[in-house]
Amino acid sequence: MNSPRLAEPLKAVLGARTAGGLRKLGLESVGDLVRHYPRRYGAPGEMTDIGALRVGEHVTVMAQVRSSQVRTMRSRGGAMLEAIVTDGSATLQLTFFAKRAGVLRMHEDKLRAGRTGLFTGTVGEYRGRRQLTHPDYLIVGVDAASEDEAVLEASRPIPIYPASAAVPTWRIGRSVRTVLDPLTATDVADPIPDALLAERNLPGLREALQLVHVPDTDDDWKRGRDRLRFEEAFVLQTALARRRASHAELRATPRAARSDGLAAALDAQLPFPLTDAQVAVGKEIAADLERDRPMLRLLQGDVGAGKTVVALRAMAQVIDAGGQAALLAPTEVLAAQHVRSLRHLMGSLADGGMLGGADGATRITLLTGSLGTKARRQALGEAASGAAGIIVGTHALLSEGVQYADLGLVVVDEQHRFGVEQRDALRERGEKPPHTLVMTATPIPRTVAMTVFGDLETSVLAQRPAGRAEITTHLVPADNAPWMARTWQRVREEVEAGRRVYVVCPRIDDDAAVVSDDAVVSDDAEVETSVDGEITLDIADAVVANEPDVPLASVTGTVEMLRQRPELEGISIGTMHGRLAADDKEAAMSAFARGDTPVLVSTTVIEVGVDVPEATMMVVLDAERFGISQLHQLRGRVGRSDLASLCLLVTRAEDGTVAQERLQALADTADGFVLAEKDLELRREGDVLGAAQSGGRSSLRLLRAVRDADVIDAARVAAGAVIDADPELSAHPALASAVSEWLDPEREAFLERG
Ligand code: ADP
Ligand code: MG
Repeated sequence: MNSPRLAEPLKAVLGARTAGGLRKLGLESVGDLVRHYPRRYGAPGEMTDIGALRVGEHVTVMAQVRSSQVRTMRSRGGAMLEAIVTDGSATLQLTFFAKRAGVLRMHEDKLRAGRTGLFTGTVGEYRGRRQLTHPDYLIVGVDAASEDEAVLEASRPIPIYPASAAVPTWRIGRSVRTVLDPLTATDVADPIPDALLAERNLPGLREALQLVHVPDTDDDWKRGRDRLRFEEAFVLQTALARRRASHAELRATPRAARSDGLAAALDAQLPFPLTDAQVAVGKEIAADLERDRPMLRLLQGDVGAGKTVVALRAMAQVIDAGGQAALLAPTEVLAAQHVRSLRHLMGSLADGGMLGGADGATRITLLTGSLGTKARRQALGEAASGAAGIIVGTHALLSEGVQYADLGLVVVDEQHRFGVEQRDALRERGEKPPHTLVMTATPIPRTVAMTVFGDLETSVLAQRPAGRAEITTHLVPADNAPWMARTWQRVREEVEAGRRVYVVCPRIDDDAAVVSDDAVVSDDAEVETSVDGEITLDIADAVVANEPDVPLASVTGTVEMLRQRPELEGISIGTMHGRLAADDKEAAMSAFARGDTPVLVSTTVIEVGVDVPEATMMVVLDAERFGISQLHQLRGRVGRSDLASLCLLVTRAEDGTVAQERLQALADTADGFVLAEKDLELRREGDVLGAAQSGGRSSLRLLRAVRDADVIDAARVAAGAVIDADPELSAHPALASAVSEWLDPEREAFLERG
């Protein structure tokens, strides 16, 4: 629970105008504002590279005033102030207009030659000179009460806040100081226990806030920041430790393996030998299922590692013990495909209750939203009666409307964002929670797994089935006509060799602004990295997210274009995207798999799990619009047999941009884990943890998974010790409330109101 002082609305403290601007940044209360940390610090001596500013950009620059002069304008009447600021080499003009010269004297007085300041505005151009018109600015040291203070001020690191055009960084800084000054250590209760502070030699929360917001030296803010970073990791790890502890108290039905049942029959008829990794992970899962504690296991395995058969063997064990299994896919397309491939792997073992079904055979039922009323009723009946051992669908399978005879296992496929809430919903279903297996091909670096999935056990399928050919990946510049012609020629060659080709586009049609059009695992948040009016000192940060002048490739547009290409004459082209009806999607996939339409133009719907072994080539258009992990997933749709495969990433990204670097990373390695690390490294502010776990004020601000692995490790140990000693956190009220705020911001809001 926040103290009354922290809960105070900013409006009451700072006035409506300032509070209004801050609200646009999501800052409502005193507590929100003091937790709005600077994103970097400027040093008064470090000037911004003015030569690198681009017209149209909203910037904050640090520069020195070279001259300033008020002039009256004879032609138009009125007056004008022109100041020139410089970084030592290039110059930038600042222009202010007013009706009367007197109004401008105030600026002239502040903008004295030799002074250093921060200037913010949108870069314009006038007669070939770059300028800021009516910039907002802060002159370093001028607002100080005394000479001494001015000197101190001028030598202090300057906090640069995440800001907006409406509220410049220094206004935020001033507001922070206004609300921070009167706060005492009692007002800001520290979630880190005193003993731990002492042990790790960390400043208390009140002091840390002072250090990051009003540092005297660089060491100050670093010390404050490190402590706040540790706090984030610690609160999160405490939440996860508590979750683990409460999970340990749950009881599930043990599902003992049998040597004479479905599982054994399945193993005896598998069309391939299991890899060692599949066998090993299978043993771990089998042992979990025999316990009376619900399994909560994350199975990671790169695309094509063969996770489905691992899941199927677990399902068979549960069915042998009288239970049922539900398999959740992220999309209906994938659910339908799972049914096909499970039936294929099981053969007559999936014909339970039918003439000719094998002994101990079971039934696989597809249950999705797009089934007709009759089919749906039948599927629901099979789930409720227990006739179906395996029920396949989307997450709707867990909704209230679906009853099971005895749900023993839930397998969640390809949903690395299967959140804590969904897992909780599962846990709360029925009397005894089912065992849960979450499968993902998106490699999750260890630290992320520990953080986002900190309450799951983890298994890794590190080995791919033998006999898989390599996938070669190349970048193709979109504006290079000969290369593009060659690309389509390669498509033809592939088709003529009896293979299939995917062509992936970021949009469905020309009016659709979407990048991903289905509820698939996607990184669209990352694709849309824009700097939304954010002021930044470092323009290298401003990612190339400007809308391109050429529209993005769409499925409909690309189909039309390809039908005109001489290289593809006479080749049937299919279409696939999330807006097609479920039947049409099915039909499109089967026609592609059969080779009736050997070229399939699609959105990212095919991103996960789609399995067509004959597919040996993929062309991704506007590849820079997709995230690394998303492209890796997409690429996993080819190279699924012993046929060498090719992936071409067509891009307009320019050399030396982050976008291009990301694509190059894909061309350089096929190792999903390496790519996941690279991905994290290249993301600017976009933080996997924050995005995956929660938004708003309880998200992680300072912690970064890869860089802060040590901090996370240390916090995990410390949190475990605290929870072991005091599971209810009764001796640590501030920690308890920070934890519940993290886990459930809404409930926290409710408590505050009550
Ligand atoms: P993913 O881990 O991406 O979900 P799948 O389970 O779809 O991978 O498996 C990819 C393909 O590999 C499927 O066609 C599957 O039948 C096949 N496969 C799985 N295990 C083996 C194995 N041990 N040997 C050969 N092929 C296998
Ligand atoms: Mg799969």
